Amino acid sequence: MQFSGKNVLITGASKGIGAEIARTLAGFGLKVWINYRSKPEIANTLKEEIESKGGKAAVIAFDATDEEAFIKALNLIKDSDGELSYLVNNAGITNDKLALRMSIDDFSSVIDANLKSCFIGCREALKIMSRQRHGSVVNIASIVGEKGNPGQTNYAASKGGMIAMTKSFALESGSRNVRFNVVTPGFIKTDMTAGLSEEVRNEYVKNIPLSRLGKPEEIANAVAFLLSDYSTYITGEVLKVNGGLYM
Ligand code: NAP
Repeated sequence: MQFSGKNVLITGASKGIGAEIARTLAGFGLKVWINYRSKPEIANTLKEEIESKGGKAAVIAFDATDEEAFIKALNLIKDSDGELSYLVNNAGITNDKLALRMSIDDFSSVIDANLKSCFIGCREALKIMSRQRHGSVVNIASIVGEKGNPGQTNYAASKGGMIAMTKSFALESGSRNVRFNVVTPGFIKTDMTAGLSEEVRNEYVKNIPLSRLGKPEEIANAVAFLLSDYSTYITGEVLKVNGGLYM
């Protein structure tokens, strides 16, 4: 795959899908900035792994819901590398409960972690990328933002919001040669789905045409495509990577 940019920031990249996105993009020659919030050891181990394979990586700590910290991080990257070519808003959490038992705090914490952090990243990246006249952003939403899910009204609202927001950013940024797209993973094998019981997992798999959960690298490949020069005429698009679970 071909990239005309040189670096990328991935939020929440110390593990799971974010870590795999970092490995994949480093393999394509990009310098990857690995954002972590709470686990420096894992982020540093990933950096060392990437460097041991000849890739370029750096770690950067901040909480993606902290506007000031996020802005500082993006400017640090731009000043250090001379540009910010790409951003992947991947940081996200769940806090599942039936709606009738969901407090406003349960709701807001997920909206902040998933939707607010994504807004901050998109807005600030657009400022930098507009001046460069190039850049590409991929937001990691979810199949749940497309079809809803019981027990996840907060998560569904945050991810559905990310989809609509991405399209709005795409509309505001196309004339500056900055692209915004969204990937909606189905059920992917990470810590986020590790808590599902065997029974629930089997029930999901029964309904997936490809008959299995997805792998983080399958999300990473879709992200790489949407950032790369192979998708220069694609913006405001929602790329479903869900094994056919939702068409
Ligand atoms: P994961 O293994 O739980 O990893 C989530 C990552 O996000 C962690 O590194 C976490 O860091 C980080 N994070 C959370 N809040 C953050 C914040 N405020 N600031 C910075 N980092 C933060 O989850 P995953 O499965 O890889 O999920 C990655 C993304 O894919 C999420 O947006 C998720 O909603 C989405 N997704 C996942 C699935 C799935 O089936 N796994 C399906 C659809 C969409 P800490 O460990 O420090 O908290």
